[in-house]
Amino acid sequence: MPYCTVCKIEIDFEYDIALSDGQYLHYSCILMLQMRKHEIESVLRKQKPQLMLSLFVPTDGAQQDIVSETEIEDLRAKLAKSESILTGLYNYLPCWPPDWDARKQQLIRRNGSICSRCDEEADVYLLHDIPVFEGGTNELNNLTLICAECYRSLYHEGDIFGTSTLKPAQSEFSEQFSEIQSAIDNNQKIQFDYKKPSNKRWMTRVVVPERLFNIPNSRESGETLCVEGFCELRQDTRVFALERMQALEVIED
Ligand SMILES: [Zn+2]
Ligand SMILES: [Zn+2]
Repeated sequence: MPYCTVCKIEIDFEYDIALSDGQYLHYSCILMLQMRKHEIESVLRKQKPQLMLSLFVPTDGAQQDIVSETEIEDLRAKLAKSESILTGLYNYLPCWPPDWDARKQQLIRRNGSICSRCDEEADVYLLHDIPVFEGGTNELNNLTLICAECYRSLYHEGDIFGTSTLKPAQSEFSEQFSEIQSAIDNNQKIQFDYKKPSNKRWMTRVVVPERLFNIPNSRESGETLCVEGFCELRQDTRVFALERMQALEVIED
């Protein structure tokens, strides 16, 4: 039985997170870690001005929430530790990580605000080399800075998320594409079996499809055809790659 990499207790295949390095994680465990980090941060935020104040204002011992320098050092160490645990988990989250912008800043500090395609200094976007739903990680070595111009010329004119036409290279998906398009047009649900790169099992999903679009990838095809919609299993909006679907059907409510 697989277990959660944080608490080492068994996980529930259906409802927990399959990390892209093959490990698993409870939703509750990552929430708990995030809350702990926020707690430490808020204690540190509150204590800092008080500590500074206490240098000038004589204390009478009644202000017992003033913590000592040692305690603050201790909290800082705890914060650093919890940040590093979270970063390690975010590396393999099967979606864009909450610290996406921090990762971008880290790359900019390391490489400069330089586009990896044209080597020009510019305002840059952060992209995955291998998209997460193809098994790519959020580690820095799978992330690339790219300028707006290269981004457009590589992928599409205008808004990459606005395209809903099928590229010639994607003709193998034409049947699924038109079925999903008709479900969107007729407000119908779709049902399909879905397998993420990190999962071994197919899982049946029922989704209210909202739009079809392409996400850039680094393979020869250049793009992965996806559908976004409300997933009844997750009770949330999710993105599904058509190439990871099978047994697609339009269903009546
Ligand atoms: Zn856990
Ligand atoms: Zn560029």
